[in-house]
Amino acid sequence: MSDSRSALVLFSGGQDSTACLAWALDRYARVETIGFDYGQRHRIELECREQVRDEIRRQFPQWAPKLGDDHLLDLSLLGQISDTALTEARAIELQANGLPNTFVPGRNLLFLAFAATVAYRRTLSVLVGGMCETDYSGYPDCRDNTLKAMQLALSLGLAAPMTVETPLMFLTKAQTWALTASLGGDTLNALIVEHTHTCYLGERGQRHDWGYGCGHCPACSLRRAGYEAFIADRRG
Ligand code: ZN
Repeated sequence: MSDSRSALVLFSGGQDSTACLAWALDRYARVETIGFDYGQRHRIELECREQVRDEIRRQFPQWAPKLGDDHLLDLSLLGQISDTALTEARAIELQANGLPNTFVPGRNLLFLAFAATVAYRRTLSVLVGGMCETDYSGYPDCRDNTLKAMQLALSLGLAAPMTVETPLMFLTKAQTWALTASLGGDTLNALIVEHTHTCYLGERGQRHDWGYGCGHCPACSLRRAGYEAFIADRRG
């Protein structure tokens, strides 16, 4: 352990936030998790959260004592201010501005503000999120400068240091699989394949090498391509 601070991980039960959770458990003295229930079409994500936490406790005894409380916030009010495929039954399609209509404007800014208030109460001084600039989606609230500005705003607004860490910011999806392999070996990657959820359509029927999902939606395509590139890199 190289860092005596404690962290709050924004944890959805997907591949990226599970990578962030492992990264934080490897690094910080104490780690708690926070999730947001905002009327996702797929409750499956929220169910995966608990399963991933349980499996990490069971399979990684060195991390188990550091993994603390989970906080689930009801953000159903987001349904009132968004109009997207995540909260309504619409097909996922690109909008005229180039952003997928799964976009909830500024969603990550809201999540970070709520997470920071919880972290402050829990005496946690690091927020860890899976935001990533190399994603296909180009969400402006996932960009490095946006998050650095948010760190500054939160630290000033709370009058307490609040560091925002984004370990996946400049990684490709293949590099994310490599990161989790370096943190927890094949055991961690197998846990991610088996227990995390990424598919936009909420499908968990079919099990692929890279996990469960429809295999066709943008999230599945990205996850599959990343996994295949990771395996190809490893075979060298
Ligand atoms: Zn899918």
